[in-house]
Amino acid sequence: MAILNVAKLGNPILRKRAQRVTLEEALAPEFQNFLEDMVDTMRELDGVGLAGPQVFQSKRVLVIESEANPRYSDTPNLSLIVMLNPKITSASSETIDGWEGCLSLENLRGVVSRSAKISVNGFNRFMEPMTIDAEGFLSVVFQHEIDHLNGALFIDRMKDFSTLSHLAEYDQYWAKRHVGAESL
Ligand code: ZN
Repeated sequence: MAILNVAKLGNPILRKRAQRVTLEEALAPEFQNFLEDMVDTMRELDGVGLAGPQVFQSKRVLVIESEANPRYSDTPNLSLIVMLNPKITSASSETIDGWEGCLSLENLRGVVSRSAKISVNGFNRFMEPMTIDAEGFLSVVFQHEIDHLNGALFIDRMKDFSTLSHLAEYDQYWAKRHVGAESL
């Protein structure tokens, strides 16, 4: 088990388009270990998602998992997803607004509008094809993580910066009125 360093806002790797993972790369033991380290890092830092560029690997890979806990009691349970080369194949015009945070933008929260439902095609950790239809919270997490693979951050998606808040101010002024703030 290894906890990986997380790239923070300002690091150019967060703004690069990540490279697709090849079959050969995916099956290499060191890449499989890296995937385990991504999961360990997400869990250790209480994130609900993590993308390759956030841990200094400019590769199209993401991990997602969440379970309700006292700190994020409104968070739905999401069982572990590891996806390589994810691609959104359809997205609803219906949107949902929710608070987002990011392990690469420590201590910040802001309201972002996302498609309520999406379909995602990709590959599992052994490069077998997989498709996930996601709605609600899972849809939001997927869109946030896939943005990372394209060099985009949640602040780029904000239409109105008046909600952009430090965590203490979020807790003080906003948390009672909204649900769903997460570290993605
Ligand atoms: Zn993020």
